[in-house]
Amino acid sequence: MDLKALYREIVNEHNLHPGHKGDLPAPTHIRQGVNPTCGDDINLQLEVDENGVITAASFNGSGCAISQASADIMIDLIEGRTKEEALALADAFLAMVRGTATDEQRELLDEAAALEDVAHMPARAKCATLGWHTLEKVLREEGEE
Ligand code: ZN
Repeated sequence: MDLKALYREIVNEHNLHPGHKGDLPAPTHIRQGVNPTCGDDINLQLEVDENGVITAASFNGSGCAISQASADIMIDLIEGRTKEEALALADAFLAMVRGTATDEQRELLDEAAALEDVAHMPARAKCATLGWHTLEKVLREEGEE
């Protein structure tokens, strides 16, 4: 299997069998993200403890395979991380989409790097970044809810 096929497989797998779709029992942060260009819609939910660690995360929503898979992959990466670490991951992902990621950032992204090719297609970049932009907004805004 070549690398592109492997990446397609990763996106398909997360789209068909998302590991983090659903509602959290007691989210501390909730944020809606919408990409009107494609009709993607994400409701991101986080549970952040008193030490600023994201102890659980989930999403609900509808939209294209890329937007949904990207959100699911993102949650795999941010669960168990601090808010600062999650924001560093968001920076790395957005840098990858812009084509300016360092090797170190690429390494951080792990499976999310599977979206690099697709993120370079202008029409799909907004799909791939929807979850990450929503995460940035919810973590940067202190007054939740
Ligand atoms: Zn989309």
